[in-house]
Amino acid sequence: VNTQRSVIQIEGAAGTDPVSLPIRLLLEAPEGWTRSPRDRHKVRVFHSIGENPGVTRKELISRLAIRPGTISQLVQELVTGRLVTETQPTGPGERGRPEIPLYPNWMRWVAVSVFCVSMELHAVLINGAGQILSRSSRRVPSSAENPEIEALLTGLIQEVLGAVPDQSEVLGASLSFPGIVDSVERQWIFSARWPRLRHLSLHRMRGILGVEVVIRRQLDVLLEYAMMRDPRLRIGNTLLFHWGFGIGGAFASNGSVIRSSTGVFCQIGHVSFHPRSIRPCICGRIGCLETDAALWALAPEIERSYGAIPENEVDFVEFFASRPVASMECFRHALTSVAHALSHLQAILVPDRVLMYGPFLQNIEVFHSLTDEMRRLSPPFVAEKTVIEAMNPALSWHASGGTVSLFRDAYHAHLVTRSA
Ligand SMILES: [Zn+2]
Repeated sequence: VNTQRSVIQIEGAAGTDPVSLPIRLLLEAPEGWTRSPRDRHKVRVFHSIGENPGVTRKELISRLAIRPGTISQLVQELVTGRLVTETQPTGPGERGRPEIPLYPNWMRWVAVSVFCVSMELHAVLINGAGQILSRSSRRVPSSAENPEIEALLTGLIQEVLGAVPDQSEVLGASLSFPGIVDSVERQWIFSARWPRLRHLSLHRMRGILGVEVVIRRQLDVLLEYAMMRDPRLRIGNTLLFHWGFGIGGAFASNGSVIRSSTGVFCQIGHVSFHPRSIRPCICGRIGCLETDAALWALAPEIERSYGAIPENEVDFVEFFASRPVASMECFRHALTSVAHALSHLQAILVPDRVLMYGPFLQNIEVFHSLTDEMRRLSPPFVAEKTVIEAMNPALSWHASGGTVSLFRDAYHAHLVTRSA
């Protein structure tokens, strides 16, 4: 059992992420979220306090060009709603009136995000600014069945909930899992990593934890988060392809992730590309793409040549970079199989861009070999305009991805409740 607990600043957040992505999302959506000018002012005031902690009312008036009376009123509402805190005045302002510094209260709400890295389940407690307040992880054996996984998940979430600050309200727990997920019925239906898991219902866990529990496909969550961070990705069709411990994809059209009624989508890792293959897959079938190319399938042969490999995808990047794995016969075969799979997805979905992520694809030569092969295999007129990009999401993307919409909705309910 591997458990880590500490307070960690979100990786790579500074400079790349605004202080609070949920607030930026409210600002970016001109219609729907913010109906009246007053609503928009309130969102802007809160955003400005978030971006400039310690700002005063007077500074807000000049920054935002909003009437002093309105600023006063909006700030008072934010303070009353506990979204903003005031500190004691440090000195007299003009005309002898003290200027009180205003700070965002990112602890007003917290949420739990649970996600999967290779064979590990990770839980984090996160606040409105995307700061991680507590984290914990466990390795789940491949033989685990429903009761063990349910108990483990419940324990993980309870552990991070133990770090909820007194003044904070818990918005819920968002679970992002690989495989097949039924978000409506709240069931984790299947995952090749844990073949004995079947139709795990989250209803009992919800009762035990006493918080709202939502579940989604991990690659859908990641793609949605990438689109939230980068508005460019919301235009046209985007395919996210993951090649790592397992192989799978997610797909979005004009900013919306496409789903099926059964919770399964882009299940390309468990399709056979070599009809005569007799390799058993961890899903129970024979000859799936994963048996040729997934990290779990390549691991034994790589280990025979280069010693024990880290099971965790993130740690494997370093291992892969420092050893000539890319020139191994089994890896070249894997690359060809993956290129075939991608060319099929490309022909069927015709994405404007493909985001590729996974430990192998962080190697620039592997990335180029794969994209060249993809282009070669694609049918005429399909791949000509497709942009192929490598994506390197930090673990924090998984942590934030599941909870952004919980925070956005909470801020929305508090910031934008009235119409003019
Ligand atoms: Zn399979």
